[in-house]
Amino acid sequence: MMELFVAGCSTSWTERATSCYLVNKHILFDCGEGTVKNITKCLGEKVVKSIDTIFLTHFHTDHLFGITPYIAQILNGYAKVPEKLTIIGPKGLKKIIKFFIPNHVYSGKVDWKKKLVLKEIKTFNEKFVVDDIEVSCHKLNHGNLCDVGYLIKTKDGVLGYTGDCIYDKNLLAFIEKCNTAICDVSSEKDNYAHMGVEGYTKLKKEFPNKKLFAVHCSNEVFTQAKKFGLTLLKDQIFYDFDGKTLIKK
Ligand SMILES: [Zn+2]
Repeated sequence: MMELFVAGCSTSWTERATSCYLVNKHILFDCGEGTVKNITKCLGEKVVKSIDTIFLTHFHTDHLFGITPYIAQILNGYAKVPEKLTIIGPKGLKKIIKFFIPNHVYSGKVDWKKKLVLKEIKTFNEKFVVDDIEVSCHKLNHGNLCDVGYLIKTKDGVLGYTGDCIYDKNLLAFIEKCNTAICDVSSEKDNYAHMGVEGYTKLKKEFPNKKLFAVHCSNEVFTQAKKFGLTLLKDQIFYDFDGKTLIKK
């Protein structure tokens, strides 16, 4: 059994929430800026404070920068349920997460190694088991960066989450292994770092029997989804009203 909640699936540059997919109410795939606010608004404090595992595809703001509140709460003992937070991601993860640690210890001497488990992916195809879900890691390409695509396997099938990536042979091999996939479709045309509607259309022709959802869409692509024939993953569209004038008389 798997429950997937989309806390956000957009880029930083829209009014929609940034990338964050919540599985079984305690596992996150990506953690874009605003994640804590977005999940709290929809599911409440109990859920937002129960996160104990975070998989990261890569280190861009719209996939990573919601993570600091989680680091702060685990180090300072504010978390409701988990005693430890496990963060899994590509090479470079330890350096990035360790940078945040000294700034998020508020008092006393905290032994962060007892609270934070950092796992850098060493080899692709590496597998992690959480609950009864098996998560395997696959190399996808995001411009000159490596992006880790995750295959989330349950007894009911395989869900793929690409993170940000281009249309290439790695993506084709990844989609081949999925029943359903959540795919980066950022723009109309493919570009050096992202697949666009162009690549997504080819992908759908290549794999007519798979359910392929388009996410991470620019406003242009999002508003013209119908015209482009996109299957959009239903997104909780959050607006952060802080600092905004809601009523003006
Ligand atoms: Zn990115």
